[in-house]
Amino acid sequence: MSESERPSGCTVIVGCQWGDEGKGKIVDVLAEDVDIIARYQGGANAGHTVHVGDEEFVLHQIPSGILHRGKRCLLGNGVVLDIVQFFEEYHALQARGVDLEGRIGVSERAHLLLPYHRLLDKADECQATRKIGTTGRGIGPAYESKAGRSGVRVADLANPSRLQELVAAGVEHAERRLAALGQEYSSELQGAVDDALSLGEALQALAADTGLEIMQALRSDKAVLLEGAQGTALDLDHGTYPFVTSSNTTAAAAATGVGIGPTAISRVIGVVKAYTTRVGNGPLPSAFDEEMDKHVRELGGEFGATTGRPRRCGWFDAVLARYSARVNGLTGLAVTKLDVLDTLPEISIVTGYRIGADVVEEFPADTWSLGTVEPVLETVPGWEASTCDARRLEDLPSAARHYLDRIQELTGAPVEMISVGTKRSQIIRSV
Ligand code: GDP
Repeated sequence: MSESERPSGCTVIVGCQWGDEGKGKIVDVLAEDVDIIARYQGGANAGHTVHVGDEEFVLHQIPSGILHRGKRCLLGNGVVLDIVQFFEEYHALQARGVDLEGRIGVSERAHLLLPYHRLLDKADECQATRKIGTTGRGIGPAYESKAGRSGVRVADLANPSRLQELVAAGVEHAERRLAALGQEYSSELQGAVDDALSLGEALQALAADTGLEIMQALRSDKAVLLEGAQGTALDLDHGTYPFVTSSNTTAAAAATGVGIGPTAISRVIGVVKAYTTRVGNGPLPSAFDEEMDKHVRELGGEFGATTGRPRRCGWFDAVLARYSARVNGLTGLAVTKLDVLDTLPEISIVTGYRIGADVVEEFPADTWSLGTVEPVLETVPGWEASTCDARRLEDLPSAARHYLDRIQELTGAPVEMISVGTKRSQIIRSV
């Protein structure tokens, strides 16, 4: 792409299912043409897997754009930053030859996830009568500290006495809560906190005003990608509450999570798999039967990037995707993992949910009713041919094109990108 054809403006990449949609791959493909890539929410529970050549990179906190030489990568104020894990990832990238000099910025307003958040997460989940299936990485408790106005922010690292005061209060609070949960308080906790904070100076060196930097870039006609973690059905407000993550994953949160206004966003691309998966607990209305579940899990390699947990699999859920198109204000869709369906003789799409005698086509707010709905299926012929080498829409078998057309009709969002394999080159752009 020549300089004059390079896109400018701000694009949000948002997951439209239960996460793991392949956002990392789409960001990686689009990152080529942008100047800044920023993460706007979540923590180290989200893992993006990106394949570059024969190499596989699993990124938890650093935006996937880091794998493109020279691009600036930011972690916005909306993320909760696990310093220890962040530097592990930072050094692992360096060890694999990725040049990070001047390329990573961390919002001064981002909250720190400290070792006591992890302890609380595990203790809470262990005691809970209704388990959410968290990754136990402390994300929920870190967002609780933030909402409870007792969090520690990157900006606090510059003021040692304030930092000490805030951390001491955090440790004390954690001790009290652990005791109430009947958990042994580990005397190693203070040591772990001290270890984490010993990295504070290195983190301060990366501190940035992400909103200011992004607005300055946009004013100079540069292009920016805002990258979400997890997906719409895991959004704290719009997802299958309480089986959700502790932040807003949806596109509007991208503005808040990096420090810009919503009017600065020009495009919102929703990422959906050509089928549906879900990790962790909570309902999955389009779930396969046991045999098909195992078959597609193996075809798609559906095991969590962070925990290795098997993901439950099901047909493409157009009710959820249409809802996601609406709540995110999608301007386009990126459909990933089309190739995973290549061998199936027939493919179904969930077009509605049957609840008693009624069929609903809007995603219900009552999570508990979702667990009891019967999916209404529309079945179309499979293509039973490889799509891995397709690079243009015309290269796809007509049954695959028909399937994508149905997804577009049912969700109301134009399909702009189709991914047909893990490699960067395995992408079809239809606009
Ligand atoms: P993310 O968190 O949304 O980025 O998703 P994950 O990284 O958890 O899962 C995406 C996985 O699917 C990674 O292993 C990708 O390499 C892989 N992937 C992405 N797009 C495709 C595709 O089109 N086909 C296949 N077969 N795998 C893909």
